[in-house]
Amino acid sequence: MYDIIVIGGGPAGMTAAIYARRAAKSVLVLEAVTCGGQILNTPDIENYPVEAHISGFDFSNKVYEQAKGLGAEFVFEKAVEIRDEAGVKTVVTAKNAYQAKAVILATGSENRKLGLEDEDRLTGKGVSYCATCDGNFYRRKVVAVVGGGNTALEDAQYLSDIAAKVYLIHRRDSFRGEETNAERLKARENVEIIYNANVTRLISEKRLKAIEVTDKLTGEVRTIELNGLFIAVGRVPENQNFANLVKLDASGYVEAGEDCHTNADGIFVAGDNRTKALRQLVTATADGAMAATEAVKYINAL
Ligand code: NAP
Repeated sequence: MYDIIVIGGGPAGMTAAIYARRAAKSVLVLEAVTCGGQILNTPDIENYPVEAHISGFDFSNKVYEQAKGLGAEFVFEKAVEIRDEAGVKTVVTAKNAYQAKAVILATGSENRKLGLEDEDRLTGKGVSYCATCDGNFYRRKVVAVVGGGNTALEDAQYLSDIAAKVYLIHRRDSFRGEETNAERLKARENVEIIYNANVTRLISEKRLKAIEVTDKLTGEVRTIELNGLFIAVGRVPENQNFANLVKLDASGYVEAGEDCHTNADGIFVAGDNRTKALRQLVTATADGAMAATEAVKYINAL
């Protein structure tokens, strides 16, 4: 049995592993895909102390090496269920079951979809949720980004260096993302911002070839021919598999305060999948530290 199982190998989960190992607890990190999580999609991190510029990929690799170097074990399996029997937590994956005294949920979130017809079929055929992963396929082509948060603003900026033309389509007349990001984008000559509008149809043959955009104020429908559509309309927390044990709010986030305690004894939460005011890299790593410290206290008191 492990002392602590961390579910999710993003910045929150890996930081939790670092803190737990430094407290001499045995730690297993279960990661469904690749360590790093959402930050892997960020080409340039400018707001995390120490390095003025670092890519999300390099950041993730460094944290992973740090956690591994301290003795955290990593297994690449998706946790689908937690059972709690007399205080012993069993975390079930498709292949195995692992036991621990405490669990830290650091599952982060997944891409929110627009919910348009053919959105799934066209994913990878003109529709993408990751500009840094797929942007290079659209060199000197026409693309659009949907969304008004920091991700959409940064994606549009990143793509404007690669593509011939970038449309940014946002459903309101002001951005949710930071002013600095918005100002940088507005200065780009090959970027056209379309406010108060929704993408209402994907037009395709085998691949996406155009979109219909509907103006929310006038109802006017405009067809834009393009090669790629990058959807950046936020994320949805990945907590549903654990809703049998921990309380979720109406949006699906695990209810927890700054101490990262859930309502369930010995189950803690860290990062973007918990209720919080600011979802940033720095708050995710802070959560990792807090959740691990609280888990260690819990184990020591058993
Ligand atoms: P977000 O901040 O939640 O923004 C999502 C955007 O998508 C909003 O503008 C929202 O519109 C729009 N939207 C949501 N559902 C939509 C729909 N069905 N149709 C059309 N538009 C829709 O998400 P995010 O940009 O992915 O950012 C997530 C978190 O990571 C944020 O806290 C963000 O600040 C942070 N982040 C930070 C950085 C950085 O600091 N460098 C970089 C990336 C992300 P409304 O505004 O109208 O709700």
